Amino acid sequence: MTVPPAPTLPSGRLLIDGALVEPLRSDRTLAAVDPATGRNIMQFPVCDADDVDRAVQAAHRCFQSDAWQMMRPLDRGRLLERLALLVERERDDLAALESLDSGKLLAVTSAIDLQFTIDGLRYFGGWASKVMGETVTHSPLVAEPAVYRAFTQRRPVGVVAGITPWNFPIGQAIQKIAPAIAFGCTVVLKPSEETSLTALRLGELIAEAGFPAGAVNIVTGEGAVGAALVEHPLVRKIAFTGSNATGQSILQGAARSMKRVTLELGGKSPTIVLADADLDRAIVGAAGAIFANSGQICTAGSRLLIEAPIYDRVLEGVCRIAQDLRLGSPFDAATQMGPLISARQRDRVGALVSAGLAEGAVALTGAAMPDGEGWFYRPTVLAGVGADMTVMREEIFGPVVCAVKVEDRADIVRMANDTSFGLAASIWTRDIDAAHLLADRIDAGTVWINTHNVLDLAMPFGGNKLSGVGREFGSEAMQAFTEPKAVCLRLDRAAAGF
Ligand code: NAD
Repeated sequence: MTVPPAPTLPSGRLLIDGALVEPLRSDRTLAAVDPATGRNIMQFPVCDADDVDRAVQAAHRCFQSDAWQMMRPLDRGRLLERLALLVERERDDLAALESLDSGKLLAVTSAIDLQFTIDGLRYFGGWASKVMGETVTHSPLVAEPAVYRAFTQRRPVGVVAGITPWNFPIGQAIQKIAPAIAFGCTVVLKPSEETSLTALRLGELIAEAGFPAGAVNIVTGEGAVGAALVEHPLVRKIAFTGSNATGQSILQGAARSMKRVTLELGGKSPTIVLADADLDRAIVGAAGAIFANSGQICTAGSRLLIEAPIYDRVLEGVCRIAQDLRLGSPFDAATQMGPLISARQRDRVGALVSAGLAEGAVALTGAAMPDGEGWFYRPTVLAGVGADMTVMREEIFGPVVCAVKVEDRADIVRMANDTSFGLAASIWTRDIDAAHLLADRIDAGTVWINTHNVLDLAMPFGGNKLSGVGREFGSEAMQAFTEPKAVCLRLDRAAAGF
């Protein structure tokens, strides 16, 4: 058995107003648990509404301060660069801590999650000095002897609350913090209670990087801490990633004070394999689309739509990969799939699969949890699924794919869009016409062609329908973290003599 490494654990203190502090009054703590073994790693604090208020007040004070308002955008970018350097210095340690706390494979956290974190800091650091408005040609309602100058500025929204899930913990933290700082906001981050350890370590690095007090604050705890942020009158925007149920309650809560929101929610994304696809690539791609990160990816390809002539071959290939995947310790280089995040999540996945089987689906492989410690679930391929079955409609967020044979090409668009979600899709084909024309008609925020789950900081990311509101990344992030301000000047020709 692989012995997990012993990464540096966070001190367990919150980051509030530039200092690492204990909660004011609350002495409640939560256990950070290693999902691969079920063992307790450490306890960390549960904040109450007073701690949330303290953090928001600090963010608000910083936002209002002359020093923050007058800081050169390039210098806000440099703050993010300083943090990037510190994350780089701690990269291996942070990757190990992330794997220990989340069960993600070390090979993945070190190569992907930490790279995304460092890239994200640098990408948004670069944006700080590139915020631009527009000049507008003004037509006065009535002709008059004056000249008008009309232009727009992009002003930071104010205090941002970043609320994040457990499937991509440190990356998600940076996905909220970096654009907030780049675009001149201040931020309070609330990481998932399932995976708070790298966010707490990030708080220590932010303190070391010398961010102005209150620019970034980190509070921990369960959903109630997130809800207190949503309720707080000084918070002006919620940047949320997580489940649909929580997203909907945040949208309702935000409506009361008209807080701005971006909601990155769930998905039920189709992987579409056309008959002419390069099948070797398509099979590996379809399996990776659902089994990567044990299926705990919002864009996971959880509905596999395969054209009839190649249905048997693709299904056979995906099942073979599923059966061969090695489950085990995230720290063992031979492991290909780690555990789910918690016993609760594993039981939820098991219950959804059982519901599918009861409704008539057939498990070609998997549909069971292995013996032994940790929250593992076997990669599962379901066939014989009907469009109305629970497994086809609900996000499972586990290593479970529903395979469907497509008899008639004319049905593909309807089948792909037959979901209340609209996050992503992938199309596997060699036919350039089919690829583009099909991509045009898929109702989703992202469409990949001959690849899946490729994130790009420069591309807008988010979903249609129940998959969310707004977009993050790319130039869309500027829209999300700033408000346009229209400024209009009247230049008096007569008075000036020109
Ligand atoms: P979750 O909604 O249970 O929790 C997300 C965060 O919200 C946590 O920090 C939690 O404490 C907090 N929270 C819970 N209740 C709250 C409330 N009432 N008010 C404010 N905050 C509250 O989600 P999860 O189970 O941690 O994450 C899995 C979900 O995230 C999946 O549905 C997945 O698809 C989605 N996800 C989406 C994306 C995307 O970009 N679209 C990316 C990753 C994950």
